Amino acid sequence: MTDKVLILGSGGREHVLAWKIAQSPLVQHVFVAPGNGGTRLVEKVSNIVVNIKDNKEILECCKTKKIDLVVIGPEDPLANGIVDELSAAGIKCFGPSKKAAKLESSKAFAKAFMEKYDIPTGQYKSFSEPEAAKKHIQSAPYEALVVKASGLSAGKGVVVADSREAATQAVEMMMKEKTLGMAGEIVVIEELLQGQEVSVLAFSDGKNVSLMKPAQDHKRAFENDKGPNTGGMGAYCPCVFVNQTIMKQIESDIIKKTVDAMREDGVPFVGVLFAGLMLTAEGPKVLEFNCRFGDPETQSILPLMESDLYPTLLACVNGCLPEALPKWKTNLFSVGIVLASQGYPGSSSKGKVITGLEAISKNTNTLLFHAGTALAETDIVTSGGRVLTVVALAEELLGAITLALNVVMSVKFEGAFFRKDIGQAAVQELKSKELTYKSS
Ligand code: AMP
Repeated sequence: MTDKVLILGSGGREHVLAWKIAQSPLVQHVFVAPGNGGTRLVEKVSNIVVNIKDNKEILECCKTKKIDLVVIGPEDPLANGIVDELSAAGIKCFGPSKKAAKLESSKAFAKAFMEKYDIPTGQYKSFSEPEAAKKHIQSAPYEALVVKASGLSAGKGVVVADSREAATQAVEMMMKEKTLGMAGEIVVIEELLQGQEVSVLAFSDGKNVSLMKPAQDHKRAFENDKGPNTGGMGAYCPCVFVNQTIMKQIESDIIKKTVDAMREDGVPFVGVLFAGLMLTAEGPKVLEFNCRFGDPETQSILPLMESDLYPTLLACVNGCLPEALPKWKTNLFSVGIVLASQGYPGSSSKGKVITGLEAISKNTNTLLFHAGTALAETDIVTSGGRVLTVVALAEELLGAITLALNVVMSVKFEGAFFRKDIGQAAVQELKSKELTYKSS
């Protein structure tokens, strides 16, 4: 028990990472920069004040605290080259280099890469001129289009347009009004794909990969997939729409193919490769790549990991993943429900006192991960859009949903809202499978 770990970020994802890594007998202490109102409550974990946009400040912190491994939560530090700078200084860092992180930081790059290596994805074209983009919208062979800002835009850069007019407006907004700044300088216009969406995250050491259990996020703000797209309102795991055959296909045709091609291109991918996929009638297709753990998926995935996460992270960095392959709990579902502040995903209220958190610690099958929370004197108060994720574990999916809902309902703050239907479509799917099975 000697190692010290630094996690960058402040969301629910960083809380679950801190919780899981701190359980390792190899780890003496975990620092989270800046962390949140919940990370500081975990045993062996403390928050520290570091500007995670400043690579020099992070490097100084690693030297002062004698950090053995840095784990990057969000995408911005990766795109900012933190892994390159820390590695050059001899500090181990779990995450891809700036060049490899282009798979997420440039959608135009990711699409061209997938086209080059025949990785299944929707048809598309990239544009740097608004007039050419608008002309393409009028003549595209598909009526329903998705307009994406190529650069990083914190989940706000995708417009699913149901008409050519709406797509044209999105181009105007991104390229002419520049509402997303530099991120919208190049746009990708893509065909709309139909099907179930699934998130598949994989560990990679640059050569070998190991897939985590598939999860399903719920992106829209309100029930029945209504309202604006958000960072994610809840996820359950494992996703029931992915059978073993589909998982094998995702592994060989998408994840392994990507990691192999990146290596062949001289840009090995180390870290978590997260494929956002649509399960179309023609098979799984990539909607986007992320180069890090997902939020809220990670809050549902990691509680199902049986083995110690820390050796797996180290093995990825050291290029020997097969020596520390993760083991997973079987026959268990995990359901995470996000509790958000009024106004989210737009500007949301802050400083509201949160009550009812005690209920969670009483139940061994529930976990609580903070995101937008802060400590104000003795109270825990809200400080952001997504405030908490409540995770429940049970053998039956419906049991996990019910338990998570019971707990979520006991947590209160002014303006709180959450989706009651997380995982419900999956319950229906399981029921229909059972009916088919019984009648056959
Ligand atoms: P992305 O950031 O590219 O994953 O897009 C955010 C969300 O927009 C996805 O999670 C999907 O719900 C939706 N989306 C993106 N691309 C497509 C597409 N080609 N067809 C349908 N929905 C899409």
